[in-house]
Amino acid sequence: MLHALWDDAQLAGSEGDLRRVALDQPDLTPPLRTQPLRVLPPVPSVQQHVIRRVEPVDGRKVVALTFDLCERAVHRTGYQKDVVNFLRASGVKATFFAGGKWMRSHPEKTMQLMADSLFELGNHAWTHGNLAIMDEAEVRQQMDWTQAQYELLYEALQTRADAQGLSDEFCHVPASIRVMRLPYGRGDVRTGAILAAMGLPMIQWSVTGEYDERERTIEQLVAWNLEQIRPGAIVLMHANTVPQKTNDLVRRLVPELRRRGYEFVTVSELLALGTAVTVTDGYFEHPGDNLDLDGLFEGKGTLGRAK
Ligand SMILES: [Zn+2]
Repeated sequence: MLHALWDDAQLAGSEGDLRRVALDQPDLTPPLRTQPLRVLPPVPSVQQHVIRRVEPVDGRKVVALTFDLCERAVHRTGYQKDVVNFLRASGVKATFFAGGKWMRSHPEKTMQLMADSLFELGNHAWTHGNLAIMDEAEVRQQMDWTQAQYELLYEALQTRADAQGLSDEFCHVPASIRVMRLPYGRGDVRTGAILAAMGLPMIQWSVTGEYDERERTIEQLVAWNLEQIRPGAIVLMHANTVPQKTNDLVRRLVPELRRRGYEFVTVSELLALGTAVTVTDGYFEHPGDNLDLDGLFEGKGTLGRAK
């Protein structure tokens, strides 16, 4: 379906995709639909806390590479075409946690990710709200607007697929997003309860892929990832062109992990392969290491840097 709806040049993208733009005014406009039409079943109790990784039942060497597509209200971030193109060309399954506003500002890219059977899309909140410091209504809005934006693009993709006689292939595209990632890694028991009722498990990570990337050479970054990756690992990376070494990292990591016998799976596939390993409060490397991010950006994480 992917290659029937877009030609090679459209899928490959252009240098402009890498560009990030600061907006003159924060974009606080809602999506065209603010409430998702589809209601998800609640998250099972064993997955209601922050999921760091999965313990695969048979120790199977599986790993979930994940890429966040973060976008606050004050900018339009990029699309790291080189990362996506590499994953596609190499047949690597991956999960993209997309901000709802990112999906709206990158509709073609979102539909391409949606139409690609290698990839799963997850919810990364509407404008990267810090859910741990938002009230319940704000948390719901961040998530609902994103679920609804996904549905709008799903319907647009369906219209195109039907027009091309691709309805049979389209039926494999998920009608809803079923996993989420906490912006700033900030979530706790209260956040988990709200999200669980909405049907969205909090997927965090066991490996911070681009951690300290400015201070590390690419070789050090690759070694850091390989040291930490175990069967059932979830690796955090980005595809919004904010971190700068992701492309090099992925191109070195994927062949080495394959050589070591690893299989790449999406997050939903990973969850089905074992038991989720959870913590109550989200963090990057150590409990509490993201609390200072609460004050970093105005608007509970959604706006510009606090003065
Ligand atoms: Zn993010």
